[in-house]
Amino acid sequence: MVNKSNYEYLLSDLTTLKGVGVKTTNLLKKKKINNIFDLLWKLPKSYTDRSLSSKIKDLKIGENQTITIVPKKYYFPRIRNLPNKVLCSDETGEIDCIFFNSYEGYIKKILPLGQKVTVNGKIGFFKNKYQLTNPKYISEDASLIKQKHNTYSLTEGISEKVYNRIINQIINNLPILNEWHSKNILNKFDNITWNKSIIELHKPENVGRYKKNFYKRLAFDEIFSTFLVNSEIRKKIKKIKKTSKKYDVEKQNKIIKKLGFTLTSDQKKTLEEINNDLSSANKMFRLLQGDVGSGKTIVSLLAAYNTVNAGFQVAVMAPTEILARQHFNFAKKLFNNEINIDLISGKSEHKVKKKILEKLEKKQINIIFGTHAVFQKKVVFNDLGLIIIDEQHKFGVNQRKKLSDKGGTNCDVLLMTATPIPRTLTMTMYGDMDLSIIREKPKSRKPIHTYSKPENKIEEIVKFVKKEIKLGNQVFWVCPLIEESKKLDHSSAIKKYEHLNKLFPNQVSLLHGKTEISDKEIILNKFLKNEFKILVSTTIIEVGIDFPNANVIIIENANKFGLSQLHQLRGRVGRGDKNSTCILMFKSNLSENAKKRINILKESNDGFFISEEDMKIRGFGDILGFKQSGIKNFKLADPIHNSDLFLLAEKEIKKIENANEDIRRFKPLMKLYDRADIINDIA
Ligand code: ADP
Ligand code: MG
Repeated sequence: MVNKSNYEYLLSDLTTLKGVGVKTTNLLKKKKINNIFDLLWKLPKSYTDRSLSSKIKDLKIGENQTITIVPKKYYFPRIRNLPNKVLCSDETGEIDCIFFNSYEGYIKKILPLGQKVTVNGKIGFFKNKYQLTNPKYISEDASLIKQKHNTYSLTEGISEKVYNRIINQIINNLPILNEWHSKNILNKFDNITWNKSIIELHKPENVGRYKKNFYKRLAFDEIFSTFLVNSEIRKKIKKIKKTSKKYDVEKQNKIIKKLGFTLTSDQKKTLEEINNDLSSANKMFRLLQGDVGSGKTIVSLLAAYNTVNAGFQVAVMAPTEILARQHFNFAKKLFNNEINIDLISGKSEHKVKKKILEKLEKKQINIIFGTHAVFQKKVVFNDLGLIIIDEQHKFGVNQRKKLSDKGGTNCDVLLMTATPIPRTLTMTMYGDMDLSIIREKPKSRKPIHTYSKPENKIEEIVKFVKKEIKLGNQVFWVCPLIEESKKLDHSSAIKKYEHLNKLFPNQVSLLHGKTEISDKEIILNKFLKNEFKILVSTTIIEVGIDFPNANVIIIENANKFGLSQLHQLRGRVGRGDKNSTCILMFKSNLSENAKKRINILKESNDGFFISEEDMKIRGFGDILGFKQSGIKNFKLADPIHNSDLFLLAEKEIKKIENANEDIRRFKPLMKLYDRADIINDIA
C-alpha cells in the first residue's frame, strides 16, 4: 500500500506503479523519466472529450463518439485477412464493431454478449450500417470512458491510454505533503497547496494556463528550490574556517602606483571586497563579474599578490593557453622579479614540467598560471591560498563546488566572468557565490562603432582596412569555426589569410585552433609589438585576449553567432584610447530577426543589456551555452515570463538567510526537486 504521507513515494521507481512493467519503464527512462516525480512533468498537450454520449440513430459519421451498446452476436470468420466482427445494438439501432488482428478470447472478454458496454471511437459507415473499427476505449464502466482524455506527445512509444492510466494513478495517490512555504508566499498564489497545484496542472482544460496560480506556484517551487540549494552551498562554504591572510597594503599600493592608469572606482570597490575576504577567517567563494574590458585581470592579480605576501601560493587558471600566457606575461611585468611566477603549458617538455612541479611542492613558485593543467592530480601545492579562475561561465555549480573542495580549507576561490547575464538568472547561475560586480569601464575608453555589411561589399571593407593600417592601427579578422564540419573548421580562416596576404603582403598572420602553441606565442607577441597589422583568426581570440592597439574587428558570417558572443568578440577592440570599429559581415540578405539582433549591437555596448535582449530572442537555455553548464533546465519556470517569480524567490531567500531560519521544512522540496545531492546533510 502507498504511504501517502511521505514524499519518498514520489521518488520511488516507476515499477511501483500498477500496470507498469519493465518495458514501459525502459521507454520512460530513455526520456529521463526515472521515478514517479519525473512523470509529474509529463504534461498533457490537449485533450479529447469523450464525455458526451449519443444514441446509434444520432451518430455522426467520421466523428469520434461515445455510445453505450449491447453486444448481440460474434462473427469470427476463420479465413485469413477477414476481420472479426461483433454485432451490437441499442434501442435505436445497430452497429458493427470490427477487429483486425485480434484474438477471439480478447473480444469475448471486452464485449461480452448481453452486457452493457460503453465504447468510443471514430464512427464509420459500411454496407448501410454504422461501424467502429478497432475501438480502443471500451469499458463496462461508462464513467471510465465518459471523460476528457489527455493527449500527450507520444514520441516515447507509449500510448495515450497508458499515459492517462499511469498519470491518473499517480494523481490519485499523491502524498499529502506538509506545506513548506511561508504564509506570505502562499498568499501570492491564493494559498494553493502543492498537491492541488499538481492536480490542476494535469486537468485537461488547464493546458497552457501559465498565468494561473497552480502553474505559478509550481514554477516558484522550482526556482525557489534551486536558489535555496545555492544559498545552502554558499552558507556552508562561508562557515569553513581558514587561516586569515595578513598582507601589507603598502606593498599592494606600490604596485598600483606603477600602473599606467588609475583604477576605476568599481575596480577599487571589488578589490576591497576581495581583500576583506582574504583577510577574514572564513573561506572566500566569490565571483568577479564585469563586462569585457572592464579590467578584471588587474584586480585579480592584486589579490594574488596580496595572497603571496601573506605567505601562500596562488593558482591562476584560464580557459586557453593563450590567455594563461597573457596573464602570465602581464604578471611578469607587474611584479618584476619580486615574486616567483611560472606557467605550466600543456605543450612544454616533460623535463620542464617536472621541474615546475618540484618547485611548486617546495614553494619555490608563488603564482602558477595555466589551463586546467594546473589542477591535475599530480600537481601538489605546498600551501595553496587562492585559486583564480578566469572566464569560466560554463562551469556549473557542481564543478565549482568540487574546485573549492580541492583547494583545501585555507584556499580562497575567486572566479571571473565577462559574461553578463540577465538579472533574473544571477541567483540561478551564481547563487552559490558572493558576487562582486564591475559595472563601469575605464573612462578613457572610446565607443566602438558597429556596422553590418553584406559579403559582396568586401572591397569597401578592404579599403577601410587600408586606411586604418595607414594610421598605424591593427585589425582582427575573425572567420567562424564551422561546427558542422570539424575538419574544415579553419579552412575559411586559411583561405581568408591567403586572400588578404595578397592584398597586404607581409602584414597578415593567421591563428587557428591547430596552430602550434609555440607559433601562437610568436604570432601574438609580434601582433602585440605591432610587427604586422592584420590577425586572421578563428574564434579562439574570443575570450579575454587583450591587444590595446587593435581597434578594428571584422567578423565574417556574423549570423552564426549569438548576440552575447558577438559582444564578446567585439570586446577584443576598444581597449585602448582610440576610436574603434566592428564590422559584422553577412552572407546574404538578412532575416528580420538578424536585423533586430544587429540593431541591438549597434545601439548598445552594455553587456548586461545585450544579455537581456539575447535571452528574449533565444530563450535562456541557448544563451552562451548555459545548457552545457550543468545548470538544470527548469520544467515549468521561464526566466522571461516568470521574471517576477525569480525576483520573489530571491527576496525570500535573502529573508531566510538574514533571519537564519531553520530550513528543515524545505527538505521534501529539495529532495524532490533533485538538487539535494549537493547538500546531503540537511537534517
Ligand atoms: P577584462 O575585464 O575583459 O578581463 P582586462 O582585465 O583584460 O579586461 O582589461 C582590459 C584592458 O584594460 C587591459 O589592457 C588593462 O590593462 C586595461 N585596464 C584595466 N584597468 C584599467 C583602468 N582603470 N584604466 C585604463 N585601462 C585599464
Ligand atoms: Mg579577462
